[in-house]
Amino acid sequence: MTTDENEEKLLRSVTLQNARSILATRQQAEQQLVQAKEALELRTNELAHSLEMMRAILESTAEGILATDDGGTVTGFNQNYIEMWRMPRETLDSLEHNQLLEVCARILKDPEQFHLRVKDIHASSPSESYDLLELLDGRVIERLSRIQRIDGRNVGRVWSFRDISERKRAEEALQKQSERWRVTLSSIADAVITTDAGGRVDTLNESAASMTGWTEHEAHAIPLNSVFRIIDEQTRQPVENPVTRALHEQRIVRLSNDTVLIAKDGTERAIDQSAAPIKDDRGNVNGVVLIFRDVTEARRAAQAHLRLSAIVESSDDAIISKSLDGIIVSWNKGAERLYGYTVQEVVGKPLSILIPPDHQDELTAIMDQLKRGERIEHFETKRLRKDGRLIDVSLTISPVKGTDGRIIGASKIARDITGRKQAEHTARFLADTSAALAELTDYESTLQKVASLAVPFFADGCAVDIQDADGSLRRLAVTHTDPAKVQLLRELDRRYPPRLSERHGIMEVLRSGKPEWAPIITDSLLRDSIQEQEHLSLVRELGLKSYICVPLKSRTRVLGALTFVTAQSGRIYDTTHVRVAVDLAHRAVIAIENASLLAALKESDRHKDEFLAMLAHELRNPLAPIRNAVQILHVKGPPVPELQWAREVIDRQVQQMTRLVDDLLDVSRISRGRIDLRKEQMELATVVSSAVEASRPLIEKWGHDLVVSVPPEPIHLEADLARLSQVLSNLLNNAAKYTNPGGRIWLTAERQSGQVLIRVRDTGIGIPKEMLGRIFEMFKQVDRSLDRAQGGLGIGLTLVQRLVEMHGGSIKAHSAGPGKGSEFVLRLPLALEVVRPPTPNPVVQENITPPVICRILVVDDNQDSADSIAILLRSMGNEVYTAYDGLQAVSLAAEFQPDIVLLDIGLPTLNGYEAARQIRQQPGGQDRMLIALTGWGQDEDHRRSKEAGFDHHLTKPVDFTVLRQLLSTIRMRKHPERRSAKP
Ligand code: ADP
Repeated sequence: MTTDENEEKLLRSVTLQNARSILATRQQAEQQLVQAKEALELRTNELAHSLEMMRAILESTAEGILATDDGGTVTGFNQNYIEMWRMPRETLDSLEHNQLLEVCARILKDPEQFHLRVKDIHASSPSESYDLLELLDGRVIERLSRIQRIDGRNVGRVWSFRDISERKRAEEALQKQSERWRVTLSSIADAVITTDAGGRVDTLNESAASMTGWTEHEAHAIPLNSVFRIIDEQTRQPVENPVTRALHEQRIVRLSNDTVLIAKDGTERAIDQSAAPIKDDRGNVNGVVLIFRDVTEARRAAQAHLRLSAIVESSDDAIISKSLDGIIVSWNKGAERLYGYTVQEVVGKPLSILIPPDHQDELTAIMDQLKRGERIEHFETKRLRKDGRLIDVSLTISPVKGTDGRIIGASKIARDITGRKQAEHTARFLADTSAALAELTDYESTLQKVASLAVPFFADGCAVDIQDADGSLRRLAVTHTDPAKVQLLRELDRRYPPRLSERHGIMEVLRSGKPEWAPIITDSLLRDSIQEQEHLSLVRELGLKSYICVPLKSRTRVLGALTFVTAQSGRIYDTTHVRVAVDLAHRAVIAIENASLLAALKESDRHKDEFLAMLAHELRNPLAPIRNAVQILHVKGPPVPELQWAREVIDRQVQQMTRLVDDLLDVSRISRGRIDLRKEQMELATVVSSAVEASRPLIEKWGHDLVVSVPPEPIHLEADLARLSQVLSNLLNNAAKYTNPGGRIWLTAERQSGQVLIRVRDTGIGIPKEMLGRIFEMFKQVDRSLDRAQGGLGIGLTLVQRLVEMHGGSIKAHSAGPGKGSEFVLRLPLALEVVRPPTPNPVVQENITPPVICRILVVDDNQDSADSIAILLRSMGNEVYTAYDGLQAVSLAAEFQPDIVLLDIGLPTLNGYEAARQIRQQPGGQDRMLIALTGWGQDEDHRRSKEAGFDHHLTKPVDFTVLRQLLSTIRMRKHPERRSAKP
C-alpha cells in the first residue's frame, strides 16, 4: 500500500470515521434533541402544572399577593389582592405597579408615608420589608415584601398583604382586658400573687406587696414560700403553703382561719387565704393564683363577738334582742330559763307572747321610747312564762343602732326579781304584821290578827291554837281564803281534836317546841297519819298542798301553835317559808308578851289612879268641916286680933290644901277618863277675867306686876268655863310661884288662823332646856329641893295639858334657860259660830240675894262635917237638924218635914241613894229639895244621884255661894211674890 492509498485509505477511514462519528453525533444529537424535546415537553408540562399549582395556591391563600419585576411591571397577583385593595380591573390591565400603588394609596390613612416607603424599598432594595398599613375604612393590613431570586438572580419582588383587622382588634381587646385586670388587681384590697407551675412568684399586686413587704420586682421568680411565710396563730408552727397544695391537688385550697402571715419586716397579720390552680385549655396546671386578705380586725371582732356571745350565753339574766316591730331576734340560755321557751320556739315570734294581757299597753309605750332612742332602765313589771306563771322582772332595754345610726331594734335584759319581790313582800308583810300587832293590847285579838294577816299573803289557810294552863288546846282563830274551808277546819277541830298521844302535828310541835314542815302533802302522807276513814275524807276535802306548824314559844313556855296550809294557790313551802313562819310566831309572841306587860302596867296604873282618887276623896272629907269651922269662927268668933290672925292662917292653908286635893282628884279622874267637859260658847275675855280673879291674890301676895292684853273684839270659844279658867289660873299661879318677888307676868291673847294663841310669860326662874318637854309629866318638878312653901305636887301642868287637849288644843313651854323667865303658849280652836250672848255674871246676882230662912236636914257620917255645916246654915237664920246615918236621916226627915235635905252618899245603915229614895216616898217628899253632898263629883255620880231622886249634886267641901243660891230658889218657891221685888 501506498502512502497515497494509505493516505487515501486513511483519509477515507478518517472521513468514514468522521462521518460515522458525525452520524453518531448527529444521531446522538438527534436523540438528545428528541430527549431534550421530550424533556422540554415534560418540563413544560410540569411547569404548566406547577404554575397551575402556584396559581391555585395563590388563590387559596388568605393573603393578597402581588408580584412585580425589577422594572416595576406587575408579573402576578391573586384575587385576594384585588378584593383587599378594591382594585378596579382596568388598573390591572396596565400591569403598572405605580398605578396600583396610586389606587392603594387612595384608601390609606397616610398615603404620603406609603409612597415614600415603597420608593425607599425600591431604592435600597432590602431583601425583606414589613409594614402595617391603616386604611381609611378602619382595616389594618400587614404588608410584607421579599425579593425573589432565581439562581441567585433578582427577578423582582413579591408583595403580600394580610388583613389583620380582626387580629388587631382581638389583640387590643386582650390588651384592654389585661389592663383592666391589672388595674383591678392593683386596686382591690385583696392581695393576689400568681405563681408559675413551679411555685415561683410571677405577679404580685399592690396589696400583696404591702402585706408581704416584697415588691413585685423583688419577688419575681422567687419561690412563694420565701415571699409568703405563714404560721398557725395558736401553735406558731409553719403552715403548709396553699399554693403547694393547689399545685399538687389541682383544686382550690382554702386555709384554716388561724393563719398568720409574717411580712418581710416581721410584722404579723391574721389572714384568710385561698389558692386556685391556673389551667390552660388542655387542663394542664401552669400556675397558681393565691388570694389572701388581712383579717386581723375581723378576727379580733369575731373573737370579741365570741366572747360577747359567751357572756350572753352564760349570763343568768335573760338577754333578748328584738326588731323594731317587736319580733324576737335572739334569745340566750338565761331567757330560756326565765321564760321557759327554747330558742327554736321563740325566735321569729312577737315579743308580746311574754307580756301578760293586762300589761300589753306597756309594749307600745316601751317601743315609743326606744324609737326616740331612749333607754329604759330597771323597769319593774310582770312577765308571763311559757307555763303560764307570772314572774316579777326588772327590765333594762336599750335601742340597737345600725351602722348608719338608725335604730333597728332593741336589746333587752330581764332579771328575775321574783325572789327579791317575794323577800320585799315578806319583809313588808312581817313589818305590817309587827305594826298591826303593836296596836293590839290583848293576846286573843293579837293572835286573831296574825291569822287574818297571814291569809292570803302567806297561806291559804291559817289556824291558831292555844294551850291553856291545864294543857288543853283551844282553837282561837281559823282563817281561809275559801269561807267553806273555814267551816270545814272548825268542824275537823270539833270532831277530831288533836290527841295528846299524837306524834306529829300540833301536839308534837307543842311538846318539842320545834316547827314541823311538810313541803308536799301527798295522799299517802295523809293515809299514814289519819287512820279513820271519815276523818281522812274530810281532810282530803281541804285539798292540802303544803304545811307548816310553828310553836308560839315565850321565854317560859309554849303558848300554842300557828298552822299554815296552802291549797288552791298550789304554793309549796320551802325553808324560807319556814323561817318566815318562825319569825311570824316570834313576833306574835312578842306582841302577846307586850300586850300582857301593858295590861299589867295598865292595871297598876289603874290601881294608882284609884288610890289617888280615894286619897283625894279622903283628904277632902276632913277639909270640909275645917272650912266650915273657919267660917263659923269668922261669923261667931270674938274679935281678938290673934284669933283673927289664926283664923286667916287656917283659912289660907285650907284653901291651898283644897286646891291641891282638887288637882289630885282631877288628874286621877282624867287618867281614868272620868271627867267630862261641860262645853258652851263663851268669850275668851270671860275665861281670862275669871282666871285672873282666881290668881290675883297670889300674884299680889308676891308683889308681881300683871299685864293682861286681850284683843278688843270678842274671841269665841267652845269651852268648859270652869276648866279653862282653871288652866289659865294654874299657869298664872305657876308664873307667880316661880318668879322672885316683884316680877312681871304677861297674859296675852291673839287670834291666829282659826285658833287663839294665849301666852303666859314671866320674868321668873326659867326652866332648863332639858326639862321643857318633861314638866308636863305627872309629878315632874324641876327642883324638888325648892322651898316647898309654894310648891305643889307637880301635877298642875299635867292637869293643864290634859284639859287643854280635851279642848282640842295644845300647850308648849318655852324658856331661854334658868333665870331667863318662862313662857307657856297655849293654842285653842276658835268656836265655829256664836249662838248665845255671854251669860251675865252670876256673882252680881248672888250679891243681891237676901238671906233665906228654911228647914234643913244635914246628913253626914262625918259628924264634924255635918255639925259645922249645920252651924253655918243656922248662922244664916235657917232651922237645921243633923243626922249621922241613913236610917236616922229617913226618920228625921219624916219627923221634921225639912224643905231641904243635904245628904251625904257614903252613909252607914242606909246609903245616900237609898235614903233619898225613901225620903222622896214620904208624904210631901216630892216637894223637898234633895241635895247630894259628896266627895264624888263625876257625871256618873251626878247621873246616879239624879236617878235616886236628888235635885242637886254638890261636891265637898261645899261652896257656900252655890248653896246660898240653891236656898234662894227654895225661897222663890216659898215666897214667889218676892220675885217681882228683884231689880
Ligand atoms: P308644881 O307647881 O305643883 O310643882 P306643876 O305641874 O304646876 O307642878 O309644875 C311642874 C314644874 O314645872 C314645877 O315644879 C316647876 O319646876 C316647873 N314650872 C312650872 N311653871 C313654871 C314657871 N312659870 N317658871 C318656872 N318653872 C315652872
